[in-house]
Amino acid sequence: MGLKAHAMVLEKFNQPLVCKEFEISDIPRGSILVEILSAGVCGSDVHMFRGEDPRVPLPIILGHEGAGRVVEVNGEKRDLNGELLKPGDLIVWNRGITCGECYWCKVSKEPYLCPNRMVYGINRGCSEYPHLRGCYSSHIVLDPETDVLKVSEKDDLDVLAMAMCSGATAYHAFDEYPESFAGKTVVIQGAGPLGLFGVVIARSLGAEKVVVIAGSPNRLKLAEEIGADLTFNRRETSAEERRKAIMDITHGRGADFVLEATGDSRALLEGAELLRRGGFYAVAGVAVPQDPVPFKVYEWLVLKSATFKGIWVSDTSHFVKTVSITSRNYQLLSKLITHRLPLKEANRALELMESREALKVILYPEG
Ligand SMILES: [Zn+2]
Ligand SMILES: [Zn+2]
Repeated sequence: MGLKAHAMVLEKFNQPLVCKEFEISDIPRGSILVEILSAGVCGSDVHMFRGEDPRVPLPIILGHEGAGRVVEVNGEKRDLNGELLKPGDLIVWNRGITCGECYWCKVSKEPYLCPNRMVYGINRGCSEYPHLRGCYSSHIVLDPETDVLKVSEKDDLDVLAMAMCSGATAYHAFDEYPESFAGKTVVIQGAGPLGLFGVVIARSLGAEKVVVIAGSPNRLKLAEEIGADLTFNRRETSAEERRKAIMDITHGRGADFVLEATGDSRALLEGAELLRRGGFYAVAGVAVPQDPVPFKVYEWLVLKSATFKGIWVSDTSHFVKTVSITSRNYQLLSKLITHRLPLKEANRALELMESREALKVILYPEG
């Protein structure tokens, strides 16, 4: 077969992405050629564009959130439910591929920590054939090891694409909690895609109360629309006011579960005060090195017998469960998509994300 694909390529950091054509003939044995129907722009794409993510080789096709239609399968490939993939099938896939051989994959069973993890659109450049390893593209070539799920015409591919990164990472945070969420109070710090997915996941898992603390009135309003019971604008309330309010709704105990989804280490200084004794703190948003913060080991950790759990990316199990929860909440989650643009406007999409004007941009390769 012969196919002309086009993609937006990052050739130099801080330089606009350039539209390039790629000739695709045969794809490697076991690979899947997919037409991208929907590509999400992640906040971390901006960091990659700026050259702040050491994992990124150049040139590269960015984009690790995607959904699409199978064009060709070279050989036999089944999805995670054992269904045979064929041309025309709509699919989503786990953005990362782990090695299955290392200590984390095989012994500790934490594949998201695999040091050999490959991620489409993040650490896979486009110099080598078959080039198409990111979602800012008309097509992507998925390796045989990629974990895939078939979806249907009834599914919202834009929302599914968006769920592939922040949704799966948010799910990972909730998945680490060793108890049921029934009767529990969840506090979410931050109302970007990670925090807002957290609201929907907390609700789906049965949390009794969901509280969101963030700095943008629009995003707090959105948090309420998708299920938050109580929201606080951190620019208009003091930390002490918020702490009192959360103590009031928890019989003076504090939150059972706090999710840090702000990307700022200093959020821990407040979150630790909001946590009840025996509470669980999932720290998921801080994704780049930052200045240290003063941590009260006795008051926050030991006396509270609290659990602080770092959350790094997600694995295939989180991917599958995220697709399940997402597919039951399309209406709510589609509110997170603030901009829909043709692929050729990917540079504008990055600007909109960087200025925070956009909460989530979806790119369409066919305009
Ligand atoms: Zn991402
Ligand atoms: Zn591994």
